Amino acid sequence: MAKDVEIKCPKCDWAHDGGEHWWCECGHRWDTFETAARCPNCKKQWEVTQCPTDPGGCGEISPHLDWYRGLDDWLREELERILQTQPAE
Ligand SMILES: [Zn+2]
Ligand SMILES: [Zn+2]
Repeated sequence: MAKDVEIKCPKCDWAHDGGEHWWCECGHRWDTFETAARCPNCKKQWEVTQCPTDPGGCGEISPHLDWYRGLDDWLREELERILQTQPAE
């Protein structure tokens, strides 16, 4: 990840803090931005990401890609390709 990319909620600007704030429907808890929104346990590819309320977020759901600020075009395309090629179980 390029170092000038920021990860923030598109709705409230809550900044990603590296914590494991996301739960998959399989019950797994992890940092969704570590894996481009793919659950490491059941391999489900999430296209949306909820803003976590525990660390102070707003709880709104946004497309995963909208969370990245300052993303290079090639990196955005790469992420889009990843998100589109993973089968959504
Ligand atoms: Zn899962
Ligand atoms: Zn938010």
